[in-house]
Amino acid sequence: MEFELTREQQIVQDMVRDFARREIAPHAEKWDQEAIFPKDVFKKMGELGLLGLPFPEQYGGSGADTITYAIAVEEIGRACGGTGLSYAAAVSLGASPLYYFGTEEQKQEFLVPLAKGEALGAFGLTEPNAGSDAKGTRTTAVLDGDEYVLNGEKCWITNAGYAKCVIVTAVTGESENGKKQISAFIVPTGTKGFEIRCNYDKMGVRASNTCELVLKDVRVPKSHLLGDPSKGFKQFLFTLDGGRISIAALALGIAQAAFDKALAYAKERKQFGQTISSFQAIQFKLADMAMEIELARNMVLKAAWLKDQKKPFSKEAAFAKLFASETATKVCNQALQIHGGYGYMREYGIERMLRDAKLMEIGEGTSEIQRLVIARHLGCL
Ligand SMILES: Cc1cc2nc3c(=O)[nH]c(=O)nc-3n(C[C@H](O)[C@H](O)[C@H](O)COP(=O)(O)OP(=O)(O)OC[C@H]3O[C@@H](n4cnc5c(N)ncnc54)[C@H](O)[C@@H]3O)c2cc1C
Repeated sequence: MEFELTREQQIVQDMVRDFARREIAPHAEKWDQEAIFPKDVFKKMGELGLLGLPFPEQYGGSGADTITYAIAVEEIGRACGGTGLSYAAAVSLGASPLYYFGTEEQKQEFLVPLAKGEALGAFGLTEPNAGSDAKGTRTTAVLDGDEYVLNGEKCWITNAGYAKCVIVTAVTGESENGKKQISAFIVPTGTKGFEIRCNYDKMGVRASNTCELVLKDVRVPKSHLLGDPSKGFKQFLFTLDGGRISIAALALGIAQAAFDKALAYAKERKQFGQTISSFQAIQFKLADMAMEIELARNMVLKAAWLKDQKKPFSKEAAFAKLFASETATKVCNQALQIHGGYGYMREYGIERMLRDAKLMEIGEGTSEIQRLVIARHLGCL
């Protein structure tokens, strides 16, 4: 068993940490307060090869492994949760399905520009009436000659406002057992009838772009069907499993940032004539926070390692996502407590981290759904 990062993984970690400290962290407060999507930063991330990090070079990627990608998400999330969310969604949700399920033509046309960072990827699964229960999808795709005609609505889709194409799930029929057959389609933005509205006023991850999609008689060629139509549901479960590793890594980054601030503050802040870090109550909080962050990191890296080894990783991805996201909320809350009234003030940045962390317990499967996934792996259902 090897607990050291490889030299290549360390190089990427140093590079992304340095980039995030210089280009992202100094602006995170402003982007949060004014809900600014940092478009130029994504351009630079594209130039550094970050948007294609886990994809082979032949598809415009950097050829790194999932561990390296998880490290990159953690470092970006440490600087800004919203930027981290858009980064994770672009790679894990927008580009990955094209890599795993696309034809060679689809990869060349749609994956290469995403991996090179020329556009952002997005994945539209959630609908106003189909969240945790994706089988409740109502968007339809009906074959008409050589084209599919899509109708429906999607909500809270990350990056759609800056995407070149959105992968949209839609019902294409019924399988033999009478269940809905859900397939995925590559829908280029700008297609007639495809409207993208980005007007949500979010609690956190405010630097991330989140949009509503309306599809009215949107026509796409048959060649835009992604993967095997009868396995659409399984395909997006695989996509979400991978995405969960990245959300766990993002949660970890937010938790680490809050912990770093709390530790530094505790060593500086004096009350009753001594630093608050000399009080056992504060020491115990910091000790628990450090331990839980370390546990979460081990879980993220193990899930990523399993994926890289092409071993089953669904349960471990759910473990990592559940534990890291709940740890992030807890750690940010304790970091705020350690800061006292200052933590409640915007300028200290802790309340932003707490708001950002909360999303990690909701997106890509809520904590309740992660527990269901784990229970299923235990053979309970
Ligand atoms: C900022 C943001 C970005 C997002 N980005 C994307 C994106 O890019 N693409 C995309 O497709 N979606 C995206 N989503 C949607 C996200 O994945 C969903 O919000 C999430 O899956 C939960 O669905 P829901 O909000 O409809 O909650 P619901 O499913 O309505 O759940 C409500 C509550 O009921 C609980 N619950 C539901 N079913 C069960 C059950 N069987 N057992 C126990 N408890 C249950 C849930 O855990 C939750 O607590 C995003 C959401 C947000 C807020």
